[in-house]
Amino acid sequence: MAIINRTQARILKYLYQKGISSRRDIGRYLNLGSSMTSDLVSDLILQGLIVEKGTISTPRGRCPVALSLHADFGCLIGMEMTNAYIRALVTDFTGEVIGCAEQSLVDALTLETLEHHIGMLVNRLRIAHQGRRLLACGLASYGLVNRDTGVILSLPPYKLQNIALADQLTQMIGVPVYLEARTQAAALGELNHGIKDQVSSFAYVNADYGAALGLACVDHGRLVRGGGLAGQLGHLCLDPDGPRCFCGGRGCLATMATPAVVVEQTLADLSPEAESVLNNIEGRSITFEDIIAASIDKDKLAVDVTTKLAEKLGLGISYVVNLFNPDVVVLGGLLRNVGDDFIAALSRVIERHVVPRVFHSNLVQTTTLGTYGVALGAVDVAVGKVIDRLSQHS
Ligand SMILES: [Zn+2]
Repeated sequence: MAIINRTQARILKYLYQKGISSRRDIGRYLNLGSSMTSDLVSDLILQGLIVEKGTISTPRGRCPVALSLHADFGCLIGMEMTNAYIRALVTDFTGEVIGCAEQSLVDALTLETLEHHIGMLVNRLRIAHQGRRLLACGLASYGLVNRDTGVILSLPPYKLQNIALADQLTQMIGVPVYLEARTQAAALGELNHGIKDQVSSFAYVNADYGAALGLACVDHGRLVRGGGLAGQLGHLCLDPDGPRCFCGGRGCLATMATPAVVVEQTLADLSPEAESVLNNIEGRSITFEDIIAASIDKDKLAVDVTTKLAEKLGLGISYVVNLFNPDVVVLGGLLRNVGDDFIAALSRVIERHVVPRVFHSNLVQTTTLGTYGVALGAVDVAVGKVIDRLSQHS
């Protein structure tokens, strides 16, 4: 295994984020002299961690040599785990996706079955990409996650608490497995692969079935961690006399504005006589995605339900915008396909509740990373840890 110093670790992380850079830009970023940069880079090339890749075209003068991480140094697996499925992808060392797979967790009734499914999924990807050395895995999990200790504090519906999942999976898989909270991983993915060149401060709002609303705030390129559990957007209290929340409180946003609540409200409003395309769905349950698709097609019942969602969610997000003043609010998870009308409705609610100077018309956007955005963020976590580990031996 390669051995690098802390400055070289920073070079590798910089290259992972930028994709391609020159010795001059690396030196500028790290405030290093040209001969020092050159020596550190030469050593990284010798150790097989970075490669020269042609030149970077410039309008005038000599074109500098392009440097990138060495794709073949090893591969990484990133996983997103919800209470319904695991989505996994495998990337090379540069973060380029080379494969993906999904596993349902519907029958994962015990923790042992859950771990078995994760192990099988990793094996499947390993077999499909034989010949590449697996460096590490990142697991972005729902539930209350302590990323520093690799322990999941609670993971509904499993009745267990304080599950040392990272250690158990590391033993089972044979390479280090690093844990991250799901929304935080999503924000890291967005930071490294999504809106990285447009803004440096943003709030990421994640919603899915079976989970409260997650929030991750990125401030000038850094994730706000707090004590480790920052971002409990779903437990902002909007009505102290409201319905009981699973956290023990009352009137939390999670009791009013999650995909599960929207489905529940739709089913309550949808009489058999109602003129709605949702009445045409037969043989399966109506999903949040169905309701969003119907609202985009201007189905009145679906529009009414999603407008109520925009009212509650917009109020919750307005607190975040007032407190944190993000350049952009990114919607992810099941909110990533909500459509322009919903974004406009949500924006109007936010505008109503924030001080004017923190609002602008493009404040709310949806993630561009698609289905595997969270898993990509989990890879980012694993890459960072692999680089840290290489430098710890110096
Ligand atoms: Zn709550």
